Amino acid sequence: MSRGHNFSAGPAALPETVLRQAQAELLEWGGSAASVMEVSHRGKEFMAMAAQAEADLRELLAIPANYKVLFLQGGATQQFAQIPMNLARPDQRVDYVVTGDWGEKAVREAGSLAQVHVAANSAGNRHTAIPPRAEWDLDPASAYVHYTPNETIRGVEFFDIPDVGDVPLIADMSSTILSRPIDVSRFGLIYAGAQKNIGPSGIVVVIVREDLLQRCPKSLPKIFSFAEHAAQDSLLNTPNTFGWYLAGLIFKWLKAEGGLAAMELRNRRKAETLYACIDESGFYANPVEKSARSWMNVPFTLPRPELDELFLQESKAAGLLALKGHKLVGGMRASIYNAVTQQSVDALVEFMRDFARRRG
Ligand SMILES: *Cc1c(COP(=O)(O)O)cnc(C)c1O
Repeated sequence: MSRGHNFSAGPAALPETVLRQAQAELLEWGGSAASVMEVSHRGKEFMAMAAQAEADLRELLAIPANYKVLFLQGGATQQFAQIPMNLARPDQRVDYVVTGDWGEKAVREAGSLAQVHVAANSAGNRHTAIPPRAEWDLDPASAYVHYTPNETIRGVEFFDIPDVGDVPLIADMSSTILSRPIDVSRFGLIYAGAQKNIGPSGIVVVIVREDLLQRCPKSLPKIFSFAEHAAQDSLLNTPNTFGWYLAGLIFKWLKAEGGLAAMELRNRRKAETLYACIDESGFYANPVEKSARSWMNVPFTLPRPELDELFLQESKAAGLLALKGHKLVGGMRASIYNAVTQQSVDALVEFMRDFARRRG
């Protein structure tokens, strides 16, 4: 058995060194004489680990002191509902900018909880470009503006943070968080499901500006309330202890690798390598406008759909995993998150060139 080059969209590749460390301390973790999965989440050891994970994440993202960091469950999908429940009244307008399928889902979930207004939508060009900021129909009285900085399925990414004035900006960063430095102070709330760039699935990280917690209705069941989770340091009930631990190892790994500035350089180079291969091939194609092409998710098509199955079979045999595109788009998709190395991207590109030569 050897590990393949893993291009899975999520749950996605994890750094091998982190997996080896988890393997080494699986039976006896720290000084606890038990696995991290077998100890109380209210014990000294677990609480110290959890606090360190938060501190490391704060350092990596330079999170200002007036933001709370929550480690919750329910994934990004639960946040589609939890955000309007906490931050908007049912009669209040909320603005959504839709640049892909996850944004569409966020709109649908919020629909019964607030007055959802779609301020811009790139569906007209099949989500291959970002609608210019000047064309967004925003209301300064809205409770918030929600957008998706990286759309995982069609590979469309924002390379700047939109200016939305004083209205809190909310970002679903599930598939781009930690891929480069960001200015957290520009956001009211950032959330990210863990299984792309943070760790295993089962955790969602929420970074929320403290003043917004005053909006959380007292009538909300505690388990849905950001204010309650913040007041109890995300230990309102039993958290995903193993997921939190592994996320903590990932944060340490990121720091050891040079932090997010180093990730930015690596991720840019990986994306450039892959898009150059596609553009120079005369065989593969990516429909996204060049200025909005994702560094994390790279969909591409082959010239004839009947080649898809062959490409998947041969790539798998060559140790290149999980390249099948999302069913909404077809073709292929290579997800190249932080844990995917330049060597893996080089191996993919070499295979793609060879395949095009043989089948072109
Ligand atoms: C994967 C993903 C989600 C869904 O995350 P879950 O944890 O499965 O709920 C939502 N938004 C984006 C941008 C994603 O990439």
